[in-house]
Amino acid sequence: LDIRGNFYPDTERELDRKLRPLSFNDFKGQRQIVENLKIFVKAAAMRNEALDHVLLHGPPGLGKTTLSNIIASELGVGIKITSGPVLDKPGDLAGLLTNLEERDVLFIDEIHRLSPIVEEYLYSAMEDFRIDIMIDKGPSARSIQLELQPFTLIGATTRSGLLTSPLRARFGINSHLEYYDNTVLTGIVKRSARILDVKITNEAADEIAGRSRGTPRIVNSLLRRVRDFAQVKGNGNIDIDITKTALEAMNIDEHGLDEMDNRILLCIIDKFKGGPVGISTIATAVGEDSGTIEEVYEPFLIKEGFIKRTPRGREATELAYKHLGRINYGGTPT
Ligand code: ADP
Repeated sequence: LDIRGNFYPDTERELDRKLRPLSFNDFKGQRQIVENLKIFVKAAAMRNEALDHVLLHGPPGLGKTTLSNIIASELGVGIKITSGPVLDKPGDLAGLLTNLEERDVLFIDEIHRLSPIVEEYLYSAMEDFRIDIMIDKGPSARSIQLELQPFTLIGATTRSGLLTSPLRARFGINSHLEYYDNTVLTGIVKRSARILDVKITNEAADEIAGRSRGTPRIVNSLLRRVRDFAQVKGNGNIDIDITKTALEAMNIDEHGLDEMDNRILLCIIDKFKGGPVGISTIATAVGEDSGTIEEVYEPFLIKEGFIKRTPRGREATELAYKHLGRINYGGTPT
């Protein structure tokens, strides 16, 4: 029941929890990262030490939070979860740090959004497992030193370019998560369908994977929506027909591009004759921060072959023209 006393199923969040992989073996894709983490976790456990601090960066929905929970669970330790914007006072950080048990994980999401003062405190905590906090104000103000239990900080960020170099330097393990390829995503669709107890054909699983922008979070949300269509408009099973009907009804792009992806492509094609055009010019035209375009949107568009990076700027490819139904492609055919 929610605060108004209405029945509140909370199914979306509950389903999300159910679909989250709980061990390295359940976590599909990102093979190299996972294999390395397994070794670091094992070595730390053998030495009975806290795992070195870990920085996970990459676009949203690729599994940074999931992986952090898995690391804590594989280490057999507790995890405390917070995020950069939430930790706005050094006292908040001190409270979290002093409550960690030996070798616990502290997960800070959006770590690029820490305030400079909090970040400053984090340095000595990460390096020497110690923090200096100020008590009292005015003439009686003094700083006292608190010893911390050895712990592992896992920082996650979509914008690693915004991390200061002193912070970045304090992470011993630094992993960049990549977009998933369709084979791996198809595997995730099938695993999730199994957990949701719904039958799905291979073809339908491929279709959902192909429209998920290389992102497991999108896979799971599309699968849930297609399942709704199958339940109401079909016989409950997911086949290719109901999948296509559902995806069309929801206006899901056939290449998995989202609204901003399409805006970026349209901007390059329609406003700048297909490019080359600089990233900051694109950013101004679409009303998004240029770093976000560079780190969050562009990598997928490049990976899928919609944009080319040239020394003079970004160019839309023939595929982008086709995708948007533009016929005046003037570049070299690829
Ligand atoms: P991020 O923290 O990078 O934004 P999350 O860890 O919250 O991403 O992942 C989003 C969802 O995608 C998770 O709830 C999980 O169910 C699913 N997911 C992420 N990575 C994987 C994976 N490798 N295998 C299966 N499911 C995954």
